[in-house]
Amino acid sequence: MTESQLQCFRQALERQLKESMFVFELLNRAVNRTHKDLKEESRDKSVLYAEIEQLLHQADQERQRVGEIHMALNRMERGDYGICVSCRKRISLTRLEIFPTARFCAGCTRLMEQQKKNRARG
Ligand SMILES: [Zn+2]
Repeated sequence: MTESQLQCFRQALERQLKESMFVFELLNRAVNRTHKDLKEESRDKSVLYAEIEQLLHQADQERQRVGEIHMALNRMERGDYGICVSCRKRISLTRLEIFPTARFCAGCTRLMEQQKKNRARG
């Protein structure tokens, strides 16, 4: 991977990081607001609880995304960004363009999904 390609991926990751942190912040605010709504007698509590649960779930996913982006940026620092953590082969640029946080090459991902399916089948 060339230095300018790496730079492009770094920018994409930093943009995603900013977005994810912004969304995470919005979700947290929505959770707090919904918690306040719970104090109002007129509101349907079961609806609000369901809403909070959904918001927390989304916030959790966003937090995971932030973690994945941080890990990708760390790999960049170490100089092994774009290298499959399992087989140590290069991850294709096309794959990284679609999933800049990818840790595994397409081959290893396929293999893992296959194993997961087999386990699920028992
Ligand atoms: Zn691999």
